[in-house]
Amino acid sequence: MPQGGITSDTLAPGLYLVATPIGNLRDITLRALDVLGVADLVLAEDTRMSRRLFDAHGLRPKCTAYHEHNADKRREGVLRSLEEGARIALVSDAGTPLISDPGYKLVREAAGRGIDIFAIPGPSATLAALTVSGLPTDRFFFAGFLPPKSVARKRALEGLKTIPASLVFYESPTRIEASLTDMTAVFGPRPAALARELTKRFETIYRAPLDQLGTLIPDNERRGEMVVIVGPPDKDAHWDAEQVDRALTEALTHQSLKSAVDEITGLCGLARRDVYRRALDLQKPS
Ligand code: SAM
Repeated sequence: MPQGGITSDTLAPGLYLVATPIGNLRDITLRALDVLGVADLVLAEDTRMSRRLFDAHGLRPKCTAYHEHNADKRREGVLRSLEEGARIALVSDAGTPLISDPGYKLVREAAGRGIDIFAIPGPSATLAALTVSGLPTDRFFFAGFLPPKSVARKRALEGLKTIPASLVFYESPTRIEASLTDMTAVFGPRPAALARELTKRFETIYRAPLDQLGTLIPDNERRGEMVVIVGPPDKDAHWDAEQVDRALTEALTHQSLKSAVDEITGLCGLARRDVYRRALDLQKPS
């Protein structure tokens, strides 16, 4: 890959995964503009949305739709063009393609056929949110979107609970309240942050323990795009009696006594026998 500006003559055949802005249209790299300017074809999740970006930068690429509803039908044709030497760029509506966006199967199959694949890196809401969150960045786990229904969501959260890393979630404004409630029930009051509308006019970052995060966000700001970051479990923290009771009560609604005690012991920093005794007390009829 040449280090100077790319021209139609110098762009090598292959599939280009081009990151695009997550809001501010100027957050695009020079290399991304070069590739989009000379690619033979741009595959866009939503062509109308991508045209706004192209117009803002004076680009007029040949562009066609490639999204979750037509990808299975279109993939073979795209792969054949690539095998014939085409230079094809893939963009999503925002951020880095394949990150909670289409493209994984295309890349897998292109790689399997020996087609060259190039990353044109740039914005992603994950790293933007993580870096402003004020939470540990040395290890993080990208959890993407949670299931929409509470039972499945809590189950997914249970599976993430003991990961010793910050957790990154994408969430929609319609589900944010329910998700924060479930996260608090499963994770307890871990430090957390919510980053909304990053790089846009109404960009706001909230930082608070999970159980308080929801109350900080005014009703008129429960809209737009948002990422939730949850800090890692604190191995040295000792929960107070009220936190232990709340977590145990919740865990006992869907787990056996033994697994509820194991789980809360792993989180609360107290001895297992104390948690066990408390769980027995809570199970006694009042
Ligand atoms: N591929 C994208 C990326 O690299 O970040 C993510 C696409 S995913 C379909 C869309 C989700 O990303 C949104 O629901 C939101 O959680 C997050 N997101 C995208 N843009 C954002 C922004 N400007 N501010 C906060 N979150 C954003």
